Amino acid sequence: MGASIGIVGGGQLAWMLAQAARRDGVPLHVQTPNAQDPAVELATSVVQAEVDDISATRELAQRCTAISFENEWLDLDGLAPLQAEGVQFVPSLEALRPLLSKRSQRELLQRLDLPSPRWMPLDQVVSTTEDPPTLPEGFSFPLMAKAASGGYDGKGTAVLRSPAELEALVQRVDPSTWILEEFVRFEQELALVAARDQQGEVVCFPLVQTHQHQQVCEWVLAPAEASHGLQQAARNIAASLLTSLNYVGVLSIEFFHGPGGLMVNELAPRTHNSGHYTIEACSLSQFDQQLRVVVGDTAQEPALVVPGALMVNLLGLEGPDAGFTAQRQALEALPNAHLHWYGKTGASLGRKLGHVTVLLQQADGAARRQEAMQRLQEVRQIWPLPTVQNDPQPS
Ligand code: ADP
Repeated sequence: MGASIGIVGGGQLAWMLAQAARRDGVPLHVQTPNAQDPAVELATSVVQAEVDDISATRELAQRCTAISFENEWLDLDGLAPLQAEGVQFVPSLEALRPLLSKRSQRELLQRLDLPSPRWMPLDQVVSTTEDPPTLPEGFSFPLMAKAASGGYDGKGTAVLRSPAELEALVQRVDPSTWILEEFVRFEQELALVAARDQQGEVVCFPLVQTHQHQQVCEWVLAPAEASHGLQQAARNIAASLLTSLNYVGVLSIEFFHGPGGLMVNELAPRTHNSGHYTIEACSLSQFDQQLRVVVGDTAQEPALVVPGALMVNLLGLEGPDAGFTAQRQALEALPNAHLHWYGKTGASLGRKLGHVTVLLQQADGAARRQEAMQRLQEVRQIWPLPTVQNDPQPS
């Protein structure tokens, strides 16, 4: 059979990948539990099953030449027999293993000597201290506590400001499944989408600035106003990571940047919200790149085809969800704006329902930032930030 792709997951990332697959004429099959999920209507076929249903993934494998994943909540041990039977996972299960929890990511970064926040397992505090727990050398409040796995968009993170808050957390969670990190005083958050092909070539999309509201990505500005040296440092980190993992596929890196230099916050072994702007703003999108690499083609060096872009997430608002028709029409009418509406059904408050990418015209960095902030105000007049957030999806 010709090259074809299976995706475990049917959310907005699979939906945008399915759009690229249609354009490129690559059959794309999805495994997802809900017939209303965004990617279903564009998929060549659907295996309707939970994403952790291994026998369903075996069925998916019979329909395609390679399988990729939409998120990182995977049962690697359950999937291992399929790989042994010859199912091709891209990235491979071995390359994915260290990336599936925040704790194993921190261990990987430490092993590779890549800059990341100082951290320790929460149970280390518990085992070395009395009641109330005190901190080892080098750590002080405030601290960032994170669930090792299962968290997203700030779910499973907590800022701890005092020994009492630390003690309360230790009482509330299983300390063996949480980590503690220094609270990083960053100036900016940056992100980079990279890809490595089967020949070992690594390519990167432009470095972007991301802005979070209540720990959820609010907007992305491309390209980031970053020196050549900073861009190169980010690319070097991507190349080291991908090459040392023998990773094939698209991978995204979230960074902190500030007085402490560049630090890796988080890795996502897939396409990412910070790369959605590439659909309109680059010579190929992060989804085109994923398609290429998963079917065994060479990764292609992407280039910006416009001076810049602002991507704004549309998070579900309070009040009755009547399809947001008026808001969608108003967003579509903005000049140089491209609306992506994911068509999600069900409770919407705080969920990523869509995004809008506004192409920018200013060539100079400072002027472009000003243009971006003006365009952000236009979007916010139509689609404000929700005051309460609830149940967002990973991307
Ligand atoms: P999630 O997987 O829930 O998105 P992240 O680790 O990406 O969790 O954290 C979400 C946001 O919280 C980050 O984008 C950043 O704004 C903030 N954050 C995370 N870790 C730290 C830290 N160690 N110091 C300061 N802020 C942090």
